[in-house]
Parts: sequence; structure tokens; C-alpha cells
Amino acid sequence: MNIYFGVLFFLLGSILASFYGVVATRLPEGKSILGRSHCNHCHHTLSWYELIPIFSFLFLRGKCHHCHKKLPIYEPIIEFLMGVFFCLSYFYYGFSYELWMSLILISLFVLIYISDFRYMIILDSPLIISSILIFILKWIYFGIQDALLGLLSGVILFLIFLGIGYIGSKIFKREALGGGDIKLAFVMGESVGIMYAIIALVLSTFLALPYATLALLSNEDREVPFGPFLISALCMVFVFYDKFTAVLKFIMRIH
Ligand SMILES: [Zn+2]
Repeated sequence: MNIYFGVLFFLLGSILASFYGVVATRLPEGKSILGRSHCNHCHHTLSWYELIPIFSFLFLRGKCHHCHKKLPIYEPIIEFLMGVFFCLSYFYYGFSYELWMSLILISLFVLIYISDFRYMIILDSPLIISSILIFILKWIYFGIQDALLGLLSGVILFLIFLGIGYIGSKIFKREALGGGDIKLAFVMGESVGIMYAIIALVLSTFLALPYATLALLSNEDREVPFGPFLISALCMVFVFYDKFTAVLKFIMRIH
């Protein structure tokens, strides 16, 4: 374990978070991710020193240097947290399969949280890139057979979600699972396998319950984004894999 790599992973996390912020807010609005960022208020093009993750915010004291409008505080917070989580993953897992998988899942987590809560959408491109990366990762660490098995698990989970979504929409007379959630199921199956992905699905409904109840009580007819809860549950299953394995073994023994 090395402090130098720890710092490097922190920087990588915060730089990627800054990039993900651009991806998850521009793509749903139909804008290109290429091209320099602008101030949302005065549209002045940001200079290089206004684009450094975390530091620019501190340096500019949280205000646009041009129009002095307050900058969104959540951006540097996400950048900082993702840096911390990348760094922690490195210290926790070392250079291993789990480290790279953890970085992929953290990335998906951030992207889905931003785009699903703000725009009720899960973008295709992060899901496609994640599943390709997971395929390569499994191939490198466990061989082509495991990589292909991962794809098969993804397809099965995708079909299970499709079925649940279909039945749900018949019962509730409205879309129960969004298309994005069903595509996310593919990555869930591919990353942790069928059994653990189903555990994550069950867990996610419990996680979503308080939020859905609040949304119902507030009397607004707003849709509840399910993606953030699915990806949270998937991350929990991944981090506490051993604990969930113990639970699974326990359940198997009862039957
Ligand atoms: Zn401005």
C-alpha cells in the first residue's frame, strides 16, 4: 500500500467526477459533451483555472468569477467524495479485480444519481461502457469463460426485469420499471451474478420505500426514480459480498 497511489486514485476520482457531472447533465439536455464548460448563469466560457475539480470552487470562493453568481455546491462535494471513494477502494482492495470493479460501480453510481434524480433518465452510454469494461475485466482476471458467463447472467437479469416490469405495468396500470432500470439490470447481472443481483433488487425496494412513501404523502404526482436505489443496492451487495454469501448459505441450509 502506497500513499502515492492513494493520492493518484483520489485525483483520478475527482477528475472523473467532474467529467461525469458534464456527461450526466449535458447528454439528457441533448447537448454535446465536447466543448468547454460555461457558467450556467452568464454563459461565460470557463478558463482552465475555473475547471480544476474542488480547487476552483475554493479558489473562486463558490462564485462565478464573471457574474459573481453562486456556483452549485454539490459539484465540489461530489468531486471530493468520489476522490475519497476511489482512494478508499485502492487502500481496501489493493490492485485487484475488486478494485477495478469498485471504480466502475462508483462511476455508475455517480452518473445514475445525477441523471436519474435530475432528469428521470439513465443514460445508455455509461451502461454500455461499464458492461464492456466488466467483460474485459472478467476476461483478464478469470478467463473468457467467466466473461461470457457474465454476459449470460446479464441477459437473464435483463429478462427477469423485463418480466417484472411487464407484470407491474399490468397491475399498476403505469410503467413500473423504466427502460433505464431494465438496462441497468444487465450490468447488475453481469457484475455480481444472478443470485446477488436478485438480492440487490430486493434490497433496492427496501431502500426506495421511505422515499416513495414521502413522494406519495407529499401528494405530488411525481415519478420515483428507481435507478439510484438499484445502483446503491448493487454497491452494497458488492462491498458486503461476504456477508450476503453467509446469508445465502444460511437460507440454502434452511430449505
Ligand atoms: Zn457567470
